[in-house]
Amino acid sequence: MESPYFNKRTTRSSGIGKVKVENEQLPLKKSANGTTQKPFSRKRKVEVKYEETMVEQPQNVKQEPSVWEPPMWREQLKNIYSMRKFRNAAVDSMGCDVISDTLASPEVYRYQVLLSLMLSSQTKDQITSAAMEKLREHGCSIDNILQTSDKVLGELIYPVGFWKKKVEYIKRTSKILQEEYNGDIPDTVEKLCKLPGVGPKMAYLVMKCAWNQIVGIGVDTHVHRISNRLGWVKKPTKQPEDTRKELQDWLPREYWRDIDELLVGFGQQTCLPVGPKCYECLNKEICPVGKSNKKMPSSKKTKKEEMKEETE
Ligand code: SF4
Repeated sequence: MESPYFNKRTTRSSGIGKVKVENEQLPLKKSANGTTQKPFSRKRKVEVKYEETMVEQPQNVKQEPSVWEPPMWREQLKNIYSMRKFRNAAVDSMGCDVISDTLASPEVYRYQVLLSLMLSSQTKDQITSAAMEKLREHGCSIDNILQTSDKVLGELIYPVGFWKKKVEYIKRTSKILQEEYNGDIPDTVEKLCKLPGVGPKMAYLVMKCAWNQIVGIGVDTHVHRISNRLGWVKKPTKQPEDTRKELQDWLPREYWRDIDELLVGFGQQTCLPVGPKCYECLNKEICPVGKSNKKMPSSKKTKKEEMKEETE
């Protein structure tokens, strides 16, 4: 017997599961000649159901969080911001962006940022800053540096670490910039790293300070050391490059701009390369190194320790 209801059901498959579309049950109409007619249209009531997909979970397998992060990093970082609130470390007044001439043309400013970073490796900020001051007085543009003899350039940058090697790097780099980059510096990390004497740490800092682009974290010895002490790497890392990759894996991008300067200053004032001042550090209870190193260090440093501090 014909049902007095028009009750059409359709089932469609979707990528997620099956979707059921059900028309509203409408009474059939009788026409004047006595035949029944299906209704033409009415608002449809649509019920969408997703079939649950049963995924079998393997037994006894621990679910790892998709992105690893150090358990205490937020608190540790907050403490470092607190300890660095005065921003009065050497890096704050002698960073590459501060000791370059902001009033020069953009190309010259960018060149000076690159040069100051080349000078800064294995060199204290005070010595780098003094060398940049002499270079700027001399005239620190690509053309002028290329016209300067190696001997005079060496005298200008002395006593930065490895000054003889750096004279060679500066000369070769300046020539490449003049010939291949129309007197400017490259604007990618890859191209910057191809310049003589320029490594990834410098390249990421050049991108930030010269081009105002945050494409990675500049990891120097301070950032590398502190990240390892705080447990900000899954396993101890040997090279700053390994530390950079680990940090970039979990540290939210909003901190990338500030993290190098923040940690460098912290490393210059508190978390020293040798004899870190754990006894006065706000992180001493939540830092693996600080927990076992809260005592005041001996004031007498060995010659080796002094030399290590000199170069970091
Ligand atoms: S507790 Fe010591 S090792 Fe840890 S971050 Fe502070 S100064 Fe550095």
